[in-house]
Amino acid sequence: MRIPITMCHGIRDYGENPLTVKLLRTFLSIAADLGFESINYDDLAAWRLGEKKLPDRPIMFDFDHPFKNLRYECHNALSAHGFVGNAFVYTRPYDETYDRDLPWGNDQYEHMTWEEIAELREEGWTIGAHTVSHPNLSELSLIDPTGDRIREELDRCNQVIRDNLGFMPQEFAFTGTSWSSIAEAEVKKRYRFGRLWIIGSEYKVDGQSMRYAELVKVDGLDEPDGGPPVAARYITETSDPYRLPSMELQYLLHEPSEFRAYLEGALSSN
Ligand SMILES: [Zn+2]
Repeated sequence: MRIPITMCHGIRDYGENPLTVKLLRTFLSIAADLGFESINYDDLAAWRLGEKKLPDRPIMFDFDHPFKNLRYECHNALSAHGFVGNAFVYTRPYDETYDRDLPWGNDQYEHMTWEEIAELREEGWTIGAHTVSHPNLSELSLIDPTGDRIREELDRCNQVIRDNLGFMPQEFAFTGTSWSSIAEAEVKKRYRFGRLWIIGSEYKVDGQSMRYAELVKVDGLDEPDGGPPVAARYITETSDPYRLPSMELQYLLHEPSEFRAYLEGALSSN
């Protein structure tokens, strides 16, 4: 089984490779036409435990950052096909006394209210954690080798989500293309899944550059499109649950033909 999993930050209709509502709707139509059905992290967890059968053509749609357009433009585009997404929330905009800011400032983007995030959850979306202030985890492991700061980022994020939504998140999305051994060890104590982000073939790991494929222990050369080996781009039965992939829609899958090829690449093995 190969499960495709995409990632984006919601609608970004500016800059290089913009993700407009129209393009997102094009992607979702392709997935629907190919017979894909979305799953969330509860489905994935139950499947891994052997407690649930997945649809023949499962797909996951992840969204990082609690941007307002997830609740409206993205939710509406997905629900038109009966799809659900998974939203990973950083909590700094809801936690004004925290002493570190988001790298891009706390007010640059419009964020969902807790009511809006709760509405997504009621619709079947997974709501996962994404730290408080979105640190670069590779750099943070050098700045604070004791791990105190990453623990604070995880625990305070969890606490704020629990205080406002009434549950503890069980999934975590690593920030950017940064990773550390310290962060993963702490993530394993708190969550059932950790998810990475593929925008190219490189990652920052414990202060060093590393190939993504090496981090997730997939053999083979990187592909001509600049990304890791095809086998590293899907969730499979043998994927490390704390190093799950996700393919960014604004990079390697930006053309509808690339998105379609990614999905078709899952069919050949299912
Ligand atoms: Zn992020």
